[in-house]
Amino acid sequence: MTKPVEPVVTQPRNPTRSVKIGNITIGAGAPIAVQSMCATKTTDIDATVAQINDLQAAGAQVIRLAVDKTSEAKALTSIREQVSANLTVDLQENYRMAEKVAPLVEKIRYNPGHLYHHEKRKPWQDKVRYLADIAGSNDCAIRVGVNAGSVDPSLADQFDPEDSISPMIESAMSHCDLLDELGFKRYCVSLKDSDPAKVIQLNQRFAALRPKIPLHLGVTEAGMPPGGITKTRIAFEALIGQGIGDTIRVSLTLPNDRKGDEVTAGIDILTAIARGERLGSGALDGGLNIISCPSCSRVENEAFVDLAEQVREMTEYAQQYDITIAVMGCRVNGPGETDDADLGLWCAPRFVNLKKGGTPLGAYPYNEILPILKTQLDELISDKKLSG
Ligand code: SF4
Repeated sequence: MTKPVEPVVTQPRNPTRSVKIGNITIGAGAPIAVQSMCATKTTDIDATVAQINDLQAAGAQVIRLAVDKTSEAKALTSIREQVSANLTVDLQENYRMAEKVAPLVEKIRYNPGHLYHHEKRKPWQDKVRYLADIAGSNDCAIRVGVNAGSVDPSLADQFDPEDSISPMIESAMSHCDLLDELGFKRYCVSLKDSDPAKVIQLNQRFAALRPKIPLHLGVTEAGMPPGGITKTRIAFEALIGQGIGDTIRVSLTLPNDRKGDEVTAGIDILTAIARGERLGSGALDGGLNIISCPSCSRVENEAFVDLAEQVREMTEYAQQYDITIAVMGCRVNGPGETDDADLGLWCAPRFVNLKKGGTPLGAYPYNEILPILKTQLDELISDKKLSG
């Protein structure tokens, strides 16, 4: 049984169109729906079924799974038979998985920045037409999920490299234009960044241009609680307070047996906003910022969540410095999502790749990475002291 989410009654909502996802509707004034994502291997059917049921019991109304391979699509068939939750599949580079998964789920999510990896000569418009056809014929909604770490490279090149917002807006707009032209209206959009201030700007700009498109809000790679919850709440307060947002996900780095905490956090944030309780942007007052992904089926080594926790503990002494450390779970998004961090780690099966200011420094075994990271962090702190 899913818990009903308390509607936000204190603020008017944008007049978005309604989008049906299985047995719920987002947009058009419907209560804001809470979503989550499985972090289990999709091929581990028992663990994935158990996690879907946990997330649903915590109140998740739509639950996402990653499917990149035929073996995962096959596992999804068995998962579908065992769960009643509304399911959405995250298509990454392998967009043609859509035809295998759409009959089994209520929504498919694609990232415009990932449509370029396969069949490079095929125009992205043809790929979107294919996805809209598949979704339409299988009673599925679509999410166009634009992410700061994986923007369509041809668009990123057209804008000032300092301006990460405009290419993302342009990407979302061009996909909305095409879907509308194709007559496919059952879609929502997300524009995610790990920086809550950018999430606010992105969604405000998009909502001003396209007030009717339902928005899925989220701060990607918000990190571990409680910091990750605070970052997310600040963004949601600002946006929902302006009537922007129809569904949310709180992305937290958590061990698998506590994944339901991100759903509880989402419900708590919505409840606080509905009651008019605000933290305000002052709750983030600079200092060390650790961003880490919420993990998913693509995590390359189960040690990732522990590593993120160890990085947080080891870096306690550097709290007062304005330094960003990113810890990512896989090679799909890890390389891109660590580009803007002062120090970035992304996990491969046996090694952790370390980057400084976007430049690769090397790959190190899991049991050796922490002292090496500390040396790099100390260098950064000493540079800051010298320049300060
Ligand atoms: S960085 Fe990789 S492991 Fe982490 S959530 Fe994203 S796709 Fe999943």
